[in-house]
Amino acid sequence: TPRSASALIDAEAPVLAHNYHPLPVVIACAEGVWVEDVEGRRYLDMLAGYSALNFGHRHPALIEAAHRQLDRLTLTSRAFHHDRLGEFATRLAALTGLDMVLPMNTGAEAVESGIKVARKWAYDVKGVPDGRATVVVAAGNFHGRTTTIVSFSDDDTARGGFGPFTPGFRTVPYNDLAALEAAVDETTAAVLIEPIQGEAGVLIPDDGYLTGVRELTRRTNCLLIADEIQSGLGRTGRTLAVDHESVVPDVLLLGKALGGGIVPVSAVVARREVMSVLGPGQHGSTFGGNPLAAAVGSAVIDLLETGAFQSHAAELGTVLHDGLAALTGKGVTGFRTRGLWAGIDVDPSLGTGRDLCERLLQQGILVKDTHGSTIRMAPPLTITREELEGALEALARTLTVT
Ligand code: PLP
Repeated sequence: TPRSASALIDAEAPVLAHNYHPLPVVIACAEGVWVEDVEGRRYLDMLAGYSALNFGHRHPALIEAAHRQLDRLTLTSRAFHHDRLGEFATRLAALTGLDMVLPMNTGAEAVESGIKVARKWAYDVKGVPDGRATVVVAAGNFHGRTTTIVSFSDDDTARGGFGPFTPGFRTVPYNDLAALEAAVDETTAAVLIEPIQGEAGVLIPDDGYLTGVRELTRRTNCLLIADEIQSGLGRTGRTLAVDHESVVPDVLLLGKALGGGIVPVSAVVARREVMSVLGPGQHGSTFGGNPLAAAVGSAVIDLLETGAFQSHAAELGTVLHDGLAALTGKGVTGFRTRGLWAGIDVDPSLGTGRDLCERLLQQGILVKDTHGSTIRMAPPLTITREELEGALEALARTLTVT
């Protein structure tokens, strides 16, 4: 029997926390870049699960790896070894140019874990007096939703009503090396930044900023933690966004696409000297690094090792860039792209970001607004040129229909 989208939406409302305001579409199945709703309508997915679906929905190699693992072993806890985790960690370290892996599940957990590692490094290795370590973060950041993470957010909606907050954080303007230098002192354990600020509207710092942050953190003996949970794993046309400046952080945070759009998989990847501060009992996760997660994560690394997704993102990134440049002045007031990732500022007189997303939904395109009249496009990296051009044409139509 056909199910109506509106009936399903109405049935959710009384029983689901209202911490999201989803677009009015109820998805039932998906393949590649296409999703289908419960009423049989097809949509092009231009959000890709906030980059968790970089390889598209149900990539055959990832689904096969998951099925194979489901038939053998799914969970052991870390009380015992299992036969998939060592391979996953070895290959993830090699892919990222770092040494050791702390497997977790969600992005926020990776951020929390990275902060714990950095603080412990500050006390054990750097010699910061106990309880005094600080972490410098950037204004406009988005690192997740836990109590500690919202403590250093400057988004009132994310913070309001959730105090008291975790101390030990200092905020500086993003893309401002002088401000960063002024904030770093002998208590600084780490500088935590997104190499590109995704939720803030795909804000790309000036060329040289990341290199400058790397040089500053090295000179002042504090760690560079790069949150690549959204920017990493092919999205920008390189494996990592820091690769555009050949910067290697001390601590790298990955999530989202690491789980292939199948299971939550995140990781803290770090230099040996840094990760070695953790001993038994000091950190953990029942599900972190489980056999299914490790099998899917290894299959994700197989895909990334081909380099095909990175080069396709770089190539189609120019189509995305040129398409948005052609719309500038015709409803688009500004935009930023890197690879297959765009923040698009729309003339507010044409509607809020939300209005535009609802109009794009009518045109068969799924996207999401970030702030105000900024929308973000981040399609699966498997999108074809024709599909991308179709999305840009739909955007153009949406901007002329008022
Ligand atoms: N860090 C960044 C840069 C993110 O974009 C996100 C999610 O959007 C997170 C952390 C949090 O990840 P999760 O929602 O899996 O906790």
